Amino acid sequence: MTEPDVSDLLTVAQAIAIIDAAPVHPRIIELPLDESDGLIVAQDILSDRDYPPFDKSLMDGYAVRISDVATTPIELNIIGEIPAGQSAARGLAHRETLAIMTGAPIPEGADGVIPIEDTEKTGSAVRILRATSPSRYIAKRGADIRASATVLKSGSTLNPAALAVAASVGAARIQVFAKPKVALLSTGDELVPIDQTPGPAQIRNSNSLMLAALLKRMGCDVTDLGIVPDTPQATRDALLSGMSYDVLFVTGGMSMGQYDYVPRTLLDLGANLKITKLRIKPGKPFVFAARDSRYIFGLPGNPLAGFVCTVRLASRLLARLSGAQPREKWIEGHLAEPLPQNGPREFYQPARFDGGAIHPLAWKGSADIFTLANATGLLIRAENEPPHPAGNRVRMLEF
Ligand code: AMP
Ligand code: MG
Repeated sequence: MTEPDVSDLLTVAQAIAIIDAAPVHPRIIELPLDESDGLIVAQDILSDRDYPPFDKSLMDGYAVRISDVATTPIELNIIGEIPAGQSAARGLAHRETLAIMTGAPIPEGADGVIPIEDTEKTGSAVRILRATSPSRYIAKRGADIRASATVLKSGSTLNPAALAVAASVGAARIQVFAKPKVALLSTGDELVPIDQTPGPAQIRNSNSLMLAALLKRMGCDVTDLGIVPDTPQATRDALLSGMSYDVLFVTGGMSMGQYDYVPRTLLDLGANLKITKLRIKPGKPFVFAARDSRYIFGLPGNPLAGFVCTVRLASRLLARLSGAQPREKWIEGHLAEPLPQNGPREFYQPARFDGGAIHPLAWKGSADIFTLANATGLLIRAENEPPHPAGNRVRMLEF
């Protein structure tokens, strides 16, 4: 493998340190709970009362005094019933019972529930056939959670279960971190929108759609600002409008080619270019810049490179802008095939995890989205990592 000297480029670890150190100020907004799915909670949510709020029956059956059913079979007088959502009119006296439904409050005097299948109804009485640990069928008030306990911590994600928790304790409106507002620009004279037929030397703009989907999955509010021609003026105008968003993603035009206007225009516009090149494969011409409190990610036009840089690097800033911590999903498995010696750049190889083994996919370079579409993650090879025999345990970054 012949590669130019890359020792002057930043490593991925150095890039991560720079991105993680960039200050962020996530916005807090109040939303109705039913518009908060997937967002991050910006306040501790407390329980408004004990849960369960009362001693509750876990079975359809009969509420009893355990002392009355010490020997079975035995007949008890049914004095009424307690449907879910109602309380008993009065408590139990000696050898009395109330029919009780799952979720209904245990009446005064009762300390057990006999499931209906352990009984036989005979008119206004019921014969208790067996009394196997009746106290088991009562959930005590406060057994799940106490009033004023923290049920959701600030910083947690509102997933379906967390939404149910917030709904249970009455948090109908909730303070959350607003989604970062992200804009996309695709530069390149060769690009046409996906609904147009490309000319002989043109290609469709696949990056915008790929990145929009990726960024939405990362919790961003995405605006696609379209295709930008490779001219200084168009680049300048597009960058200026894109930099009104929290984060701007620009693809293409990031290297040193004659028509690569993005880095120099960013400089002209007063942006601080914190990263310009990386020791990563694919993705060498990667830009991370700041201007006022806005950030710009400049991605290589090659789709796989842009994908890798977004998953591995940009995702970390977006997580913090969403009020969360950067989080990566790693999977460990046995290599299905051997891997060769790696070159001097950290290498991200599309790979597929089939539940048992990790299959490195033969990729045809940094434009190869067709291989990427078969991947479930990226195998990350350290700089100059030695070869791996098949069967070695390796880690892969899931996306
Ligand atoms: P660049 O980084 O502008 O030199 O582009 C590198 C390669 O990526 C070229 O082959 C471009 O045609 C391709 N490319 C650039 N932008 C896009 C895009 N939005 N969608 C698909 N391919 C692209
Ligand atoms: Mg280009």
